[in-house]
Amino acid sequence: MTVVHTLRLRISPSILARKIVCPAYVAAPFQKNDRFLFQALHAMAVLKVLRRHLKLGYRLKSIEKRGHGFRIDLSFISPSGRIRVNEVKSAKQLGEVHRIQAALYYWGEGCDEVVLSNGDVDIVLPEDYIYAVQKRAHETLQLLTQHPDIANVSFNPKPEVCRTCANAHCPFLPGNSRHSCS
Ligand code: SF4
Repeated sequence: MTVVHTLRLRISPSILARKIVCPAYVAAPFQKNDRFLFQALHAMAVLKVLRRHLKLGYRLKSIEKRGHGFRIDLSFISPSGRIRVNEVKSAKQLGEVHRIQAALYYWGEGCDEVVLSNGDVDIVLPEDYIYAVQKRAHETLQLLTQHPDIANVSFNPKPEVCRTCANAHCPFLPGNSRHSCS
């Protein structure tokens, strides 16, 4: 199994996750007020995840560890010594693109499990799911680098991705007259 070291790439896991779903995705810029609200909600979710884990006997390893274009929200050491990495979302409903993004934080040795969390739940991602996402990431990166012209028109409308997209050439862009996300 080949692990795609997405954390070493210039494309962030957040963007890559969306491009895995729709290669033509273009991230819309954040409005300043939206950013503040997002940061506040995210901080609250992080605190809830932290509290839950400490109650279960986990030790905090790092918080908001930053790298080039990414940030690992939380990592813990379990009572049995396993390293757990948590991708925390403020969203009440966790969708497929959230799972894909979390799976991209797996870096192999030294990372025993990846968990997608919000204020209410912690979902441990199965290993086979992580490997399947890594494979899709590898294929998507090949498409983006070797065939960008094809990637730019490889539209795959999904509401959870389209709502933050700014690809003005896409017929499925919300607000476009031919928009019909399913
Ligand atoms: S609006 Fe178009 S380009 Fe953007 S994610 Fe949706 S289908 Fe893809």
